[in-house]
Amino acid sequence: MEKYMLSIDQGTTSSRAMIFRKDGTCVASAQEAFTQHFPKPGWVEHDPEDLWQTVCNCIRQALAKANIKPGEIMGIGITNQRETTILWEKNTGRPVYHAIVWQCRRTAPLVEKMKEADPDFANKILEKTGLVPDAYFSATKIQWILEEVPGLKARAGRGEILFGTVDSWILYRLTDGRSHATDYSNASRTMLFNIQNLAWDEELCQYFHIPSCMLPKALPGASEFGYVAPGIPGLEAIAGVGIYGILGDQPAALFGQTCFAKGDIKNTYGTGCFTLMNVGEEPIVSKQGLVTSAAWSIDGHTTYALEGSVFNGGSTIQWLRDELKIIDHASDCDVLAETVEDNAGVYLVPAFSGLGAPYWDMYARGAILGLTRGTTKAHIARAALEGIAYQVYDLVNLMQEEAQCKITKLKVDGGASVSRFMMQFQSDILGCEVDRAAERETTSQGVAYLAGLCCGYWQDISELSALRHCDVCFAPTMPEEQRKRLLTNWKKAVSRAAAWEEKST
Ligand code: ADP
Repeated sequence: MEKYMLSIDQGTTSSRAMIFRKDGTCVASAQEAFTQHFPKPGWVEHDPEDLWQTVCNCIRQALAKANIKPGEIMGIGITNQRETTILWEKNTGRPVYHAIVWQCRRTAPLVEKMKEADPDFANKILEKTGLVPDAYFSATKIQWILEEVPGLKARAGRGEILFGTVDSWILYRLTDGRSHATDYSNASRTMLFNIQNLAWDEELCQYFHIPSCMLPKALPGASEFGYVAPGIPGLEAIAGVGIYGILGDQPAALFGQTCFAKGDIKNTYGTGCFTLMNVGEEPIVSKQGLVTSAAWSIDGHTTYALEGSVFNGGSTIQWLRDELKIIDHASDCDVLAETVEDNAGVYLVPAFSGLGAPYWDMYARGAILGLTRGTTKAHIARAALEGIAYQVYDLVNLMQEEAQCKITKLKVDGGASVSRFMMQFQSDILGCEVDRAAERETTSQGVAYLAGLCCGYWQDISELSALRHCDVCFAPTMPEEQRKRLLTNWKKAVSRAAAWEEKST
């Protein structure tokens, strides 16, 4: 009987299930979107029941499509949107509030207050958790729910309320309440987890007034997390199957891209861009605003990742399409960009919502510079694609500096990586190869690989490395002098976009 691995990917806008064969190819998949709730400006919530139901529906559909019989799924992996925070009752499994999504800014004032109250706050958080304090991470979201829901704080103190990121929530439901656990990579994004000793930090829990009895057990990513409970409608074919892998979405993509060696690096070009570098078995504490997380742990060895993100990646192309309306489809951008020989001195800084590392300027705003009477929409399309690539260059450059290593290749994936023009430009501006994966779903694949290693479906990482296929490898062709000139101009453009918005007092 042929056996398969099942991966569950619970994302920000949709849930997905995929079934993989031993050769790493996908047998069947299903995807379902769910409602986003925006109760106030800047607030983002999900209904935890929607997350669970869409996950169940996707598993059911994928199992049906592949005609899976009991005993054919050897193991399960879960990957997920990170930081999103859910609190539920231990007794009933009922959520006490909607999930507060990573994007939600409601606790930003809370973080600001803490920074003001304790000048050492940011340093302490960085040293222990590898994070730059921010409302993204789960800690202040937990704190907010505990304070806002009447009576909840006391109940949490009595051990009646559980917290989990989305992986924990799905695991809890799949195992019918038997497992309340998470993996190190998800724990790393709560701002409560000490990445040096890989344990919840009591001092931080006290700082945020969070009873530590609420927290899930933090386990290595490749672990026996639990077994699918019998009696879940439609999931009979996987009852009793083990969940052997959990990884947050970005580390899962790093694993799926088979970035197994120290210095291996990937970038995902989605709405935003996420660059992650494998930095080996010791965490690096960034001095310039990158964050560090524990990624995967296999057989007692933990791999750490350095991470940076570009706030506006593919969304810049959406802006050209939906707001400027200079293209009809995202793919037109490439066609247009290639109609001109060069950028004619035009630079687009997509700082629509500020700039992240290495600039960390929340008051920067988008800018198009170098316009002349001869500038056409083709130059703007080209400058937009180049602007995304420059931002990724800035991150990669910073990572090389902080990890003290020189990269030779950037592995890439994500919706906007289909742009040939941008990938070639990325390669030129980095001066290294850009290797686009043939596999579209590196995140789902990554966690299937990790779970498969844990349960013996695959034997070792060299077997996994052989499963990755390159779609196109872009090699740099730009003369060094030109590269330097473009980069100098990019820096100049960024400096003009910097600190544009007035700080509110
Ligand atoms: P996410 O997972 O963040 O939703 P995806 O990986 O699905 O994102 O990628 C979607 C993004 O890719 C969109 O922002 C879109 O503008 C961009 N995109 C899609 N096709 C192209 C293309 N041919 N050229 C440039 N960008 C593209």
